[in-house]
Amino acid sequence: MNQGGWTCPRDVEGVCDIIKKECDPGHKGCVLYGKVKFASEESPSNEAFEKRMERKMREMMEEKE
Ligand code: SF4
Repeated sequence: MNQGGWTCPRDVEGVCDIIKKECDPGHKGCVLYGKVKFASEESPSNEAFEKRMERKMREMMEEKE
């Protein structure tokens, strides 16, 4: 993947060396899964991202108490 000036170090000529398939950014197994919110609403990363953010917010609120 090479979009927006970022090249994934796991991308080997279009094949992901983690999932051993064609690079599919944001899908399970991808380093971006749950860490990035994609413009495409269909990306499975988005739900995981939202859950992660909610968990972080909860942890921050609990620390303040
Ligand atoms: S699927 Fe994700 S981890 Fe794998 S090469 Fe693509 S961007 Fe990198």
